[in-house]
This record gives sequence, C-alpha cells and structure tokens, in this order.
Amino acid sequence: MAAAYVGRFAPSPTGLLHAGSVVAALASWLDARAAGGQWLVRIEDIDTLRCVPGAAQGILTQLGQLGLWPDKTPWWQSQRSAHYEAALAKLVEQGQAYPCGCTRQGIAKALAARGEPTQRSTERVYPGTCRQGLQGKPARAWRLRSDGDASPGQTGQAIHWSDRRLGAQQQDVARAVGDFVLKRADGLWAYQLAVVVDDAAQGVTHVVRGEDLADNTARQVLLQRGLALPTPAYLHTPLVLAADGQKLSKQTGATPVCTDTPQAALEALKGAARVLGLEVDRDTSSTMAGAQTPADWLPGAVGQWRTRWPTMPGIVNTP
Ligand code: GLU
Repeated sequence: MAAAYVGRFAPSPTGLLHAGSVVAALASWLDARAAGGQWLVRIEDIDTLRCVPGAAQGILTQLGQLGLWPDKTPWWQSQRSAHYEAALAKLVEQGQAYPCGCTRQGIAKALAARGEPTQRSTERVYPGTCRQGLQGKPARAWRLRSDGDASPGQTGQAIHWSDRRLGAQQQDVARAVGDFVLKRADGLWAYQLAVVVDDAAQGVTHVVRGEDLADNTARQVLLQRGLALPTPAYLHTPLVLAADGQKLSKQTGATPVCTDTPQAALEALKGAARVLGLEVDRDTSSTMAGAQTPADWLPGAVGQWRTRWPTMPGIVNTP
C-alpha cells in the first residue's frame, strides 16, 4: 500500500526566499494540500560557510506571511550530524564509501595524466584515485563508489527515475559525476547525503523542488539504494529565469521577495503560480479572483493544482 503523502520544502538559508524559491515552496505546499497530505519544512543549514545569519528565521517568517504553514516543527540539518555519520558508516561498512586524500590539484593532475584536462567551468569527474586506498595520504573527504563495483574504471548502470513533469530520466552517475563527495574535506556534510537521509527520516513520499536540482536526483537514488531507503516520487518545477534567460538564484543575486503585507505576499504567490502554469489572471470561477490575502487565495490554487497535477503514487520503489 502506498504511504500517506508527506511532502517538504527544504530551503538552504543562504538568503531570504526569492521568486524561484517561492515557486518551490508553493508547488510543494499545493501538491501536499491537493493530496490531503502533510507538508514539512526542513532548514538545510549544513553548509555553514554559505549560511547567512538570520536567514533561516527570515524564511520561516516569510513562509508564514505567505500562508504556507508546516504541519510539524521544522527540522534543522545542523542538528542531524549523528544520522549522517551513521549513514556514512553503513556505506563504508558495505564497501560503498571510501576516504579520499586527493587535493584539487591532485585530481586535476590525475585527470591530465589520463588525457582528460579539466576546465575551470566544468565539474570534474573524480578519477577514482583513492578507491584502492589512501596510499599514505591523510583522509580528507569521503566519497561514494558511483559504480557500485570494486573494479577501477568500471562504468556503472544508468540510474533510471521518473519525473512527474519531465518524464523518464536517466543518468550514468559513474560517467556523469563519478564518485561524489558525501563528507567534504572541510568536515561539512554534503547535500546529497543529508537530503537522502532526511527525506527518508521524515517519511517524505513526494519531493517537489526546482528543476535546477533535477540533475542531483540520480545521485540521490543511488544513495537511497545503498542505504536501503525508499525512493520518493519527484516533481521538478519550472525555473524562474532572469531577464537574460539565465537561472535566477541566490548566487546570481536574486532579490528577496517582499511578503511583509498581505498584498505583497499575495503578489508573490501569484507570481509563483504563473510560473507553475496556474490560471491566476483569468480565474473568475473561484474565490481566487477577489482574494485579498494568501489565506483567501490559497484554497482556489489548491483546486487548480489538483486538476493540473493529479496525485501520483508516492514511494516508487520500496527496498
Ligand atoms: N536545500 C536545497 C536548496 O535550497 C534544496 C534541496 C531539495 O529540495 O532537495 O537548493
């Protein structure tokens, strides 16, 4: 039997919500409400170098002003290290994770020696140098064996997953990203491990998030398999693009949305709803047209969402 719907919004507190993050927040909330499920919030504050003081609290305030209230107390990833540690230990014990002593220069050198010079702009595929052991180097980071196989240079099986909006997806993780980092050289937990551990720990059945994260999904499915955790259903939402067609993000200076007044909050929700293809401007049939506050407007949006994105079964693959 399918688990009851549990959705979540998982912002990194690197700044306040911007137009793009409101899309992810609203879409995940609408999907949960349309399915009669729970909607949780998780503050992904593990990358302490990028976290901005006060941003997490600011995001929670903005969500409240938008009328998007979580059904449970938000989780904070900074308090969950012991769980990430246990997951890493399990992967190590299973021979699926290993310590890596390579520096950036060391990786670049190894790739160059293989005739694969690295370019600054492209993410490098780790050449697997430390799979056979540290060879005297001190351990710096921990990596996942992306091929699930002990022989070097082996290409793994492509990971197939399905997106409710983008359709069938696949990625050969070994070839596309290689043995990726689970714990960084600076001691910080990597997003991939933390997100997989916490989605499972919170019982998340449906992940709804921005399309910029779609590329991480195969890595996450690989980790779910390694840790014998279920794979949730995925829906990646359209991105808000800047005027120049580039992705809008906190890094590229996306400005925080103003949610201070009910009118401002309503405008922010309407902007997000347009990106999601809801009929914000033409809707005359429901309470949406005359709504003055998020609380008045949201129920109509749930109704529209329900017809646009019929509820899908959640867990797609139980170990
Ligand atoms: N914390 C991530 C971000 O803000 C999102 C993680 C997720 O939804 O899986 O980009």
